[in-house]
Amino acid sequence: MSDGQGWFKAMTEAVADADSSDQLEHVRLQWLGKKGRLTAAMRNLGDLPAERRREEGKRLNTLREFFETLYRQHRQRIAAEEEDRVLRAEVLDMTLPGPEPMVGRLHPVSRVTQMVEDIFLKMGYSLAEGPEVETNWYNFEALNVPEYHPARAMQDSFFVNLPGYVLRTQTSPMQIRAMEKARGSLPLRVISTGRVYRRDEDSTHLPMFTQLEALVIDQAVGLADLKGTLLTMARELFGPRTQIRLRPSYFPFTEPSLEVDISCVVCQGQGCPVCQDGWLEILGSGMVHPTVLQNGGYDPELANGFALGLGIERVAMLLYGADDIRLLYQNDLSYLTTFGDLWPRGEEGEEISK
Ligand SMILES: [Zn+2]
Repeated sequence: MSDGQGWFKAMTEAVADADSSDQLEHVRLQWLGKKGRLTAAMRNLGDLPAERRREEGKRLNTLREFFETLYRQHRQRIAAEEEDRVLRAEVLDMTLPGPEPMVGRLHPVSRVTQMVEDIFLKMGYSLAEGPEVETNWYNFEALNVPEYHPARAMQDSFFVNLPGYVLRTQTSPMQIRAMEKARGSLPLRVISTGRVYRRDEDSTHLPMFTQLEALVIDQAVGLADLKGTLLTMARELFGPRTQIRLRPSYFPFTEPSLEVDISCVVCQGQGCPVCQDGWLEILGSGMVHPTVLQNGGYDPELANGFALGLGIERVAMLLYGADDIRLLYQNDLSYLTTFGDLWPRGEEGEEISK
């Protein structure tokens, strides 16, 4: 049978030890559940002799009221603590960084196009545009490309199903269009970027690529002006210590014509598997041919100029160290996102030396 003081103590300790609603419920069942100690004691009252039954019943009721009071108070405290814990866990930390959204970025070709355009815009050039489907006149004849020139053969150019039209093989038709638009005024400084189309494909060529064309027409323009422009562009693009090398070449629309190499971006001109001899071919340029000037409405006796054409993909590959030009156009995001942020190296704080 229960000894009163022992149960008071046991109840008090059991309730005090419970520190969650679940534990407290467990304690309640131990005392007041169907198989609880108090419940069992009350059930056994009937077995007692009548003279003890009354007294024992009173005592058990007191114990029961004592437990219920303990239980109620403790339950309130636990509920308050639990609510407090939940509230504290739910506090919003406004300084936590949010989930990072997927951010798009410019395609490497667009990025490099903007970089090169920016270099020329800073030098005072303006932007010009021309159509991608060109007439034979603008794409070939006006640029002094005669009928027998290999570029005009079917295997080299994409002709469209309209006599006299071709997918432009270069951005140079823009030269004639820009000169016509300027109507003989001087100076003329324009750049034009756009897609051009040629029928060859291997790991270094695409049937379509992006070219940037620059044209300057003024009085007494010299090769030194062209060289200074090329050096400025090369150093802005590839770093302030970049050197350039000019080699004589032949293009129908320039005389003289120059191939332009830059010191290798990989080995800085020391010689490596990429460059062999320390130089990388990067663009073609030259002084505008008198016939082209005439076709654009300028008198070669009064004005002259230079032009240059640059393959944007080629520059992108060099800047990013990519090795297969075709990957640029396979729309493979996992490949394209490996191209990091890239800014003209001259802007990194290093002064571009003259
Ligand atoms: Zn090299």
